[in-house]
Amino acid sequence: MIFAVSILLVAGLLAFVLLVRPQDVPDETPESPIQHLEDRRAIIYDNLRDLNFEYRLGKLSDADYNKTKVVLQNELAQVLAAIDKIAGGAKAAPAAAPAAAPKAKAAKAEAPAPPDPFVCPHCGAKFEKTMKFCGECGKAMSGVEA
Ligand SMILES: [Zn+2]
Repeated sequence: MIFAVSILLVAGLLAFVLLVRPQDVPDETPESPIQHLEDRRAIIYDNLRDLNFEYRLGKLSDADYNKTKVVLQNELAQVLAAIDKIAGGAKAAPAAAPAAAPKAKAAKAEAPAPPDPFVCPHCGAKFEKTMKFCGECGKAMSGVEA
């Protein structure tokens, strides 16, 4: 009885090993439909970085550099388009960066100009020369009310 069971076990084991060979098992687990595209994108980015690096070192002529760059960029565009197509715009577009800094700069630029000594700060009358008192409204021209 034990012998028969052993034979069955061995036969079963053999059948398992022989029938389910490694090459039959799909090695690409469908964890993400765009995983292979993202891998390819990373490789292209690496290649572009290497290309720029070698170009800076003077190992490449301008013509070779531009030619390879165009090829890589075309490939990258295709991969990115494929990723976009599959992702279906699921990824939200990055929010627009707050324009706080430029605004603050603009506000600073709009700061009031220093008082014009030829213009009355009270009525806005303009004069050819600096005067102690405004000829129009008679107030002090220094800009500070007396
Ligand atoms: Zn005045």
